[in-house]
Amino acid sequence: MTYAPSSTDNYCYRHPDRQSFVLCQRCGRTVCAQCQTQAAVGVHCPECVREARGAMPRVKPQAVTRGRSMVSSGAPVATYAIMAVSVLVWLVQQVAGSAVTNELAFFAPLTLSEPWRLITTMFVHGSFFHILFNMWSVYVFGSMLERQLGRVRYLALYFVSGIAGSVAVSLIAPGTAAIGASGAIFGLLGAFFVIERSLGGRGVQILVLVALNLAIGFFVPGIAWQAHVGGVIVGAVIGLIYMRTRHRSQNWIQIGAIAGLGLLLVVIALVRSAQLLG
Ligand SMILES: [Zn+2]
Ligand SMILES: [Zn+2]
Repeated sequence: MTYAPSSTDNYCYRHPDRQSFVLCQRCGRTVCAQCQTQAAVGVHCPECVREARGAMPRVKPQAVTRGRSMVSSGAPVATYAIMAVSVLVWLVQQVAGSAVTNELAFFAPLTLSEPWRLITTMFVHGSFFHILFNMWSVYVFGSMLERQLGRVRYLALYFVSGIAGSVAVSLIAPGTAAIGASGAIFGLLGAFFVIERSLGGRGVQILVLVALNLAIGFFVPGIAWQAHVGGVIVGAVIGLIYMRTRHRSQNWIQIGAIAGLGLLLVVIALVRSAQLLG
């Protein structure tokens, strides 16, 4: 296989046989999953962590230390939080019934007056298997991507892709009320595929998985396939943006690009909503 890029840029500086696209946000060297320590934005390499520790005052209350160790140990905290909120909403739905669903679901004409539905709909599910399958996908792909991207980038990917899913529904099937994390999850799949590819992998498995799920969406009635298509396209674009702006010096370009993309999608949703009302 001569497919892998020859650049050492894509290999961990401590483990030259391990591929990774993640750069230390302090020194800019590539680090593999084992060598990463989570920071608020991105990750740090062991040397930079040691340096930062040396510069920090030693005395800290124990509770703070314990909380930090969970967060900095690389546990996919954001993924767990997304799952926890989704399950909580599901439980409330079981108790309070369809009123909750009606308040939180995405429905294109309502975006102008109740824009939060773009976000809340990602936490609402229609059936036990719907939430089971979605949470399983979030667990598998979310925890992987959260480790690779860092918490903030991962959350941006999740929510912007989810919004993209709703925007696609509003453009293609504006009369449909859509619920679920599927748009966001397809965004994770799209980004994962792009990142695998640019590391030199062929990403065939993930491509098969995406194709299979898109196909299911097309043929099984009651599934908002439009959200899947919107999510996977925008997720892939975000993956591409992350790949092209890995260096610390490009942080602001990256933030600008992602924020711009998110803003553009929200504006499209609002304009579409106004158009549907008018
Ligand atoms: Zn470093
Ligand atoms: Zn390593």
